[in-house]
Amino acid sequence: MATELKSYLSAKWRGGSGKKTPLVNPSNEEPVAETSTEGLELAEAVDFSRRVGGRTLRSMTFAQRGEVLRKLAKVIGDAREELIGLGMINAGNTRSDAKFDIDGAAATLMFYAELATTLGENRFILDADGTSLGRSARLYGQHILVPRHGVAIHINAFNFPAWGLAEKFAVSLLAAVPTITKPATATAWMTHRIVERWIEAGILPDGALSLLCGSIGGLLSHLTGQDVVAFTGSGETAARLRSHETLSANNVHLNVEADSLNAAALGPDVAIGSEALNLFLADVVKEVTQKAGQKCTAIRRIYAPRERLDEIREMLVERFSDVRVGDPANEKTTMGPLASAEQLKGVRSGIDRLAAESEVAIGGSQPVAAIGVEARNGYFVAPTLLVRREPVSEDVLNRHEVFGPVATLMPYVDAEQLIQLIAAGGGGLVSSLYSDDRKFVGEVVGGIAPFHGRLVLAGEKLAGQSISPGTVLPQLIHGGPGRAGGGEELGGLRGLQLYLNRVALQGDRALIQHLFPPR
Ligand code: NAP
Repeated sequence: MATELKSYLSAKWRGGSGKKTPLVNPSNEEPVAETSTEGLELAEAVDFSRRVGGRTLRSMTFAQRGEVLRKLAKVIGDAREELIGLGMINAGNTRSDAKFDIDGAAATLMFYAELATTLGENRFILDADGTSLGRSARLYGQHILVPRHGVAIHINAFNFPAWGLAEKFAVSLLAAVPTITKPATATAWMTHRIVERWIEAGILPDGALSLLCGSIGGLLSHLTGQDVVAFTGSGETAARLRSHETLSANNVHLNVEADSLNAAALGPDVAIGSEALNLFLADVVKEVTQKAGQKCTAIRRIYAPRERLDEIREMLVERFSDVRVGDPANEKTTMGPLASAEQLKGVRSGIDRLAAESEVAIGGSQPVAAIGVEARNGYFVAPTLLVRREPVSEDVLNRHEVFGPVATLMPYVDAEQLIQLIAAGGGGLVSSLYSDDRKFVGEVVGGIAPFHGRLVLAGEKLAGQSISPGTVLPQLIHGGPGRAGGGEELGGLRGLQLYLNRVALQGDRALIQHLFPPR
């Protein structure tokens, strides 16, 4: 019988009524769990979070909240093997995919636990230095950041059920804002189990974290101007949130992390057999196939100098043909299935849309024989490389994100054209450049920086220690303009600003510095 995943609201586990939504194993399509949010008391849960969770968190110092984060990270570490198993059966993760998600979650919590020690026994943050406002030094102005008195609603995408939970919650908890987290229903089991382990461990104050497991229902209609919605998911759902009646009427703070057509470009200077070329090829294959390409930071567009297009194509085809698609429980498998039937349908039709303008070098939308799986079962798709020989800004691949192991290789003639093609993606989370030619890199960075949240500059010197572009780091911001949603998360202390209100104090310097001492 499928396990029922309950929600944790107002410090109690509660099951929804009515028909339950099944969660399935994407390798064999068998139901593994079920959930419902129908009939749950959402207004009461929001009120409980604000009243009980918010008050307790605000009474704690940054250092105390940091200690909580440290313990939460340890619980994830202790539960690692169990969570890897859930990633395999509910999200189609290979062992390595699941580790990426789970270890990323623990590392992000630890990063913010460390950051908390630098903020110490305080409950506010000074925003830059104060400034004199009058003729004497006495009239003084100082900006400070204080926690909002609301609740944070975290709505997450299906692809990172562990990391998505942790990267948002680490920041809101440190900022002292209570959270209601809502994972995507299809892969909610991992999030559910982490929250369950945290509650069992007794680490979290009542109301600091609630879990809504299943569809969102009327949750957002209870929000006010002190509340925050941090959303990760598709551009279509983001558009719905932007026009949500309550969110717009009450000016609820909304942060959007949406989709992105991330690019990787090989510079004209990179030689055959060089470390930089190997890094480029390895990063492309990893960022197209890890988590079966279901990463917002996956590489979707690959650019090579025109005269080298065919040789790069050959090298990529060779590497893609080594990928072994199958049931993640089978140890021969290196790439698992997509997470749901809906994703499979979207990816297949997406490949066909791209293939109408490009040639398929390897892969395609047709069914694929998967290791350890009975014929026709499971949501499998082959790693797919397309080639577009005459790219233009208006190409469908600059408008449509295929959320699977799919990328298109294209030529460019010079830095100017490369900038124009990359920028045609309409705003992205991360793009990467592989070159040691400073003039070329400077020109391209200058041209594409306004369109991105992060740029990875890789080359020969850093080849041994480069971190692949799809790895989101808590030290650096995650987000991007335009298509990517216009949001910003993480980035060390920058991430806290979503949950804090900046207020300017104007008055007697001695009084202001007594209340909010400079550090
Ligand atoms: P999605 O369908 O937009 O769903 C995202 C979340 O929104 C889920 O929790 C979903 O809940 C919820 N949701 C759906 N309808 C809603 C509504 N009307 N009001 C409030 N919440 C609603 O996206 P997805 O398929 O899970 O994720 C894939 C997309 O996310 C891709 O486009 C990818 O690029 C993007 N993504 C972006 C980032 C980033 O950091 N920028 C990271 C990961 C993924 P249910 O599951 O219950 O429907």
